[in-house]
Amino acid sequence: SDELRCLALRDQLTGLYNRHFLIDAAAKHISQAHRHKLSLCLIMVYIDHFKAVNDEHGHAVGDAVLRDVGEIFLNEARKEDIVARFGGEEFVFLLDTCDREAGIKKAERVRQTLEAKQVQGLAITASLGFAHLTSDEDFTGLLSRADYALYKAKSNGRNRVEVAD
Ligand code: GH3
Ligand code: MG
Repeated sequence: SDELRCLALRDQLTGLYNRHFLIDAAAKHISQAHRHKLSLCLIMVYIDHFKAVNDEHGHAVGDAVLRDVGEIFLNEARKEDIVARFGGEEFVFLLDTCDREAGIKKAERVRQTLEAKQVQGLAITASLGFAHLTSDEDFTGLLSRADYALYKAKSNGRNRVEVAD
């Protein structure tokens, strides 16, 4: 049924695409990007200190924060972007036909928008890792560069964007 198909693609809490869908879709978009020499970017977004939200306000508020954050991210995305909940408090933007400069601007705008908003009455920030697809790189390679940039964003103080080399 349509409902079952939808459940297989979507994260139940946020309604965003799930990790499985992202992995499938990314492989297709990346092979197209290579074939047609198109630019593609990936942003990993990690909500800062999320455990404290659950600990201080309860799991239901934690869930509501993730839902609201997902909606904020979706509003920042273009129709052709894929926004997915990758796991727990981790989200991914796949920006199809988006060049490096525009992608970095988008990552910074996502960070700023979240910082400026109250989410469930709370100040929520995120750390972001940005990577632009290199020639003949696959999804695993792109993801691991974004993940390393994210790691740097966290260790450089969070609530910031780091760009993979
Ligand atoms: P850090 O910024 O260093 O990652 O610290 P942290 O506080 O985020 O700590 P950690 O990553 O260990 O904890 C993440 C927490 O997110 C733990 C987990 O229970 C919670 N979490 C994951 N998925 C969900 C969810 O769907 N709903 C709620 N409410 N909490 C979730
Ligand atoms: Mg965490």
